[in-house]
Amino acid sequence: MHMSTNIAVYEPPTALQLITQAYASLLRIAFALMPVLLIAYLYFYQDPTLRFENHLFHEIAIAVATLEGLFVTYVTWRCYQSSGEPLLRWMTLGFMGFVLIYAPHGAFTEMAHHNIWLFLLYGPASRLAMSILLFVGLLSYSWPPDDIAKRPNVRPWLTWAGLFLMVNLVIAWVAYSAYAGHPAVRLSMEGGALVFCALNVAVMLSRQIHSPLMTIFGISVTWFALSSLAFMLGGPWNHMWWLAHAIFAGGFFLLSYGVVQAFRTTRSFSTIYSQEELMARLAEAMAGTQSALQEVQRSNQMLERLAATDPLTGAGNRRQFIERIGTEIARAKRSGAPLSLLSLDLDHFKEVNDSRGHIVGDEVLCEFVRKCLEAIRPYDSVARVGGEEFMVLLPGATLDAACAVGDRLRLAIERNAFEVGSRPSIDVTISIGVSEFGRDGDTLDAFLRVADQRLYRAKDQGRNCVIAA
Ligand code: GH3
Ligand code: MG
Ligand code: MG
Repeated sequence: MHMSTNIAVYEPPTALQLITQAYASLLRIAFALMPVLLIAYLYFYQDPTLRFENHLFHEIAIAVATLEGLFVTYVTWRCYQSSGEPLLRWMTLGFMGFVLIYAPHGAFTEMAHHNIWLFLLYGPASRLAMSILLFVGLLSYSWPPDDIAKRPNVRPWLTWAGLFLMVNLVIAWVAYSAYAGHPAVRLSMEGGALVFCALNVAVMLSRQIHSPLMTIFGISVTWFALSSLAFMLGGPWNHMWWLAHAIFAGGFFLLSYGVVQAFRTTRSFSTIYSQEELMARLAEAMAGTQSALQEVQRSNQMLERLAATDPLTGAGNRRQFIERIGTEIARAKRSGAPLSLLSLDLDHFKEVNDSRGHIVGDEVLCEFVRKCLEAIRPYDSVARVGGEEFMVLLPGATLDAACAVGDRLRLAIERNAFEVGSRPSIDVTISIGVSEFGRDGDTLDAFLRVADQRLYRAKDQGRNCVIAA
C-alpha cells in the first residue's frame, strides 16, 4: 500500500501555527478595510472640479450590474431551493431588491439634468434595501432549513417583487416632491445602508461567525458600508462617486463569488467546510481507507490460506499443490534442475480408525504431517491429496535423492510410534512411490501418474517401502 499520508502526518510547530493563523486573521481585516485607503486618498487629494460625466458609460455599467445582479439572484435562489437556508432566502431577496430598485438608477441616467433626484435616489435606496435584507438574513444564520414543500412557493417572491416596485414608486414620488432636494433624504438612505452594513459586521463579530463563506459575506458587507461612506463623501460624477461605485461593485463581486462557491459545493452558506476542515476530513478519510485496505488484505490472505490448505492437518491441499507443481515444472524446465515427487499413503489406516476411532485417526494424520515437515527441507512442500494420501514435492532432487528422502521419511515414521489419544501408542508405516520429472514423463499428468503407480506397487510389495522404478 503506497497511499501517501503526508497531510495527516505533517504537524508544524504550534507557534508557527498560531502566527500563521493570526496573520490570516489580519489579512482578512486588511482586505475588508482596503477601500479605506482609496477613500482617504481621494478625500485628501481629489480636485473637486474633476468630474467624469459620461451617461453612456453609466448606463452600460448599470445594465451590466443589473444583468449580473439577476444572475446572482437566480443562483442564490437555486442554492436556497436546495439547502432551504433562511439566510439564502433573505440573500435572494436582498439581491432581488437591489436589482429591482437599482435598475431605475441606470434607466433614469438621462434624467440627471431634468430631475437629478429621480436619477440619484434609486442608488442609495437599493443599497439600503439590500443591507436591511442581508441583515435580517444574518440574524437567521444557522436557523433550521425551510420546509422543503414551502421552498418552491412563488407567491412570497412575487409579493416581495411587488413591494420593491412600490418602493420605486415612492422614490419617484419623493423625487418630484418638495423634500427631494433635502440633503437628509439621500444621506439618511445612504447612512441607513452604512448602518445596516455595520450592524451586519457587528453581529458577525459578536457571534463569532467565521465559516469560509461567511467570511466572504463579512468582507463584502464591509465593502458595501465603505461604498456608502464614499457615496456620502462624493457628489454626482466626481471621482469619489465613481470610486464608491467601484467599491460597491467589488463587494458585490466578492459576495457573488461566495454564492457561486456555495452553489458549486454544498449549496449552503453555513455548512460549507473550510480548507482546514476539508484537509482534516480528507486525512481522516484516507486513514479510514487505509485501515480498511489493510483489513481487506488481511482477510484476503486468510481466505487465500483457507483456500490453499487442508483444514485438518494444515498441509497444502490438492488445488494448491497442483499449482505449485506447475510452477516448479516451469522453473525446472528453465534451469534444468531436477524435480521429484513422492506419493505417500498410510498403510492399513482403516485399521487405526476401526480400532481407535476416527478422532484418533485424525490426530494421527496431523501428527504424520508434523513429522513429514520435520523430515524435509523448507522449500519442499507437503500436500494432503486424499483421505490419508499425501504428496511431497522435492525441487532440486533427482530420483535417487528423492528415494533417499522417501526412505528417511519412511524410517522416521516407522521408528516413532504415534503418541496420540489414550495409550497404547500406534505403530504407523507408509508406502511411497517416487517419480522424477523428465525422466518419468514430461507432463504434469505423467509425473503424478507414475508416482501413484509406484505407490500401488509399493502396496503390492508388502507396504512400508519406497518404490522408484
Ligand atoms: P492401505 O492403504 O494400506 O491399502 O490400507 P488403508 O486401510 O489405508 O486403505 P484405504 O485407502 O482403503 O483406507 C483409507 C482409510 O483412511 C479409510 C478411511 O477410514 C480413512 N480415512 C480417510 N480420510 C480420513 C480422515 O480424514 N480421518 C480419518 N480418521 N480417517 C480417514
Ligand atoms: Mg492407506
Ligand atoms: Mg488410501
